[in-house]
Amino acid sequence: MSYGTETASSADIGVGVDVGVGGSRSISGERSRVSDGSRAGCALSAPGPSDLGWTWREGPVSPERAVVFDIDGVISEAAGRQHFLEGPVRNWDGFFESCDEDPVIEETAKLLELLDGRLTVVLLTGRPSRVLGRTRRWLERNGLRWDLLIMRVDGDRDAVASYKRSALSALRSYGFEVCLAFEDDPRNREMFRQEGVHCIYIHSGYYG
Ligand SMILES: [Mg+2]
Repeated sequence: MSYGTETASSADIGVGVDVGVGGSRSISGERSRVSDGSRAGCALSAPGPSDLGWTWREGPVSPERAVVFDIDGVISEAAGRQHFLEGPVRNWDGFFESCDEDPVIEETAKLLELLDGRLTVVLLTGRPSRVLGRTRRWLERNGLRWDLLIMRVDGDRDAVASYKRSALSALRSYGFEVCLAFEDDPRNREMFRQEGVHCIYIHSGYYG
């Protein structure tokens, strides 16, 4: 699977679901892992997550209850990059490629730390998968908890709420019960509400 300009081996980034991954969890080690290549409780007809921009932090976990967090404007302070989008032509490359310079939003980081360890933390972002490496390094540098990172496949031009609705559908098909979402984009908040997912809105002042 290609991640464009930022490359990492699949073994390094844990892409895909067909890997038997053991090991302990450094932050929230109470959930069971998929260890035999199967996905307990999920619909076998679901699309393959490896085709959907999914990256596991330490390998697939059994699909149980999950909380979904947006990144930009929710856990990452993206307002400092807003200027890339304010000219007559939006500079998306500049915007995304400086994402690893953002400060962390400390309140959300604390919330992640305090969440029940049995919950799966899904980061669902509109960032393209070509900045996967930058995003992972930023998450690690800031010591943030997460289990599954979902990014846009490069070239995806769907409206953001449509992309996130599809991602939510894929999570449910996989077997996750998505209990709660955190968003700073009213379009995505509305989508979650339409889909029956409680959504806590965070006003960031940033909207990509
Ligand atoms: Mg956002």
